[in-house]
Amino acid sequence: MPELPEVQTVVSDLEKKVVEKTIGDFGSEWRKAVRPSFVEFRKGVIGKKIVGSRRIGKHIVLSLSSGDSIVIHLKMTGHLLFKNKEIRSWSTKLFEERVNGYVRHWFVFKDGCRLEFSDMRKFAWVALVKSDKVCDMKEIVCLGIDALDSKLTFKVFNDLLNKKPKSKIGILLLDQHWVAGIGNIYRSEILFDAGVRPERLVGDLGLGERKKIYSAMRMILRKAVKLRGTSDMDYRDTDGKKGSFQNFLKVYRRTGEKCVGCEGKVKTFKMGQRSVFYCDKCQK
Ligand SMILES: [Zn+2]
Repeated sequence: MPELPEVQTVVSDLEKKVVEKTIGDFGSEWRKAVRPSFVEFRKGVIGKKIVGSRRIGKHIVLSLSSGDSIVIHLKMTGHLLFKNKEIRSWSTKLFEERVNGYVRHWFVFKDGCRLEFSDMRKFAWVALVKSDKVCDMKEIVCLGIDALDSKLTFKVFNDLLNKKPKSKIGILLLDQHWVAGIGNIYRSEILFDAGVRPERLVGDLGLGERKKIYSAMRMILRKAVKLRGTSDMDYRDTDGKKGSFQNFLKVYRRTGEKCVGCEGKVKTFKMGQRSVFYCDKCQK
């Protein structure tokens, strides 16, 4: 599932590629995922110019000239593909990759460019909301502070940890209501880097361990943004290209492989319905 770095990559791409473009048409072959309804959405976006692109947690928000906003959640397998009028040969090849072929919705701009929404699993959604009501959406109103927000200093992070002494740190990092943006890939990487086992209770973590978790979180997410995200499975950027943080993963989906920090092997167990990856020896 796309997490903060992948969604940030898409939002930054869209800033360059679709802001200032006017929507000429919208189509969908999976109308259930279009809110409030396909007809209302289509009517609300046609003829409107996109004036901004930003991220809230794992949501993409495109603001329109009309005072409405398009809100998109990529969920498990969703990704957005931007197609120029003249698609170059390298991009045609990428767009033909199977993972990019599940186009459920599409925007056609007045200048002939297209933004297509590929989503194999069909869990992703797109909504039209009044711009001043975006933060009141049920999925957004409950979000915690963003994991890369400049206001999230170590002091603020530590105060947030102090509110959850009985939580397991591996579960808490996934809790979007606590801190937004981290999912399954980055929680394992953050805890490995910090040397802390995922099942540890927050209340038992020392100040040094808390500082290591905080630093690992900021460092890993920033590095992943710089590397345009992790494409271990379906995630692709708006060119249909893979990110490259998967080349730097130390534990995620490496079960049974040799640990990068010791002679042991990477292990896994289910935590919060998702697999968490760790090293017995490197993490205390
Ligand atoms: Zn190890």
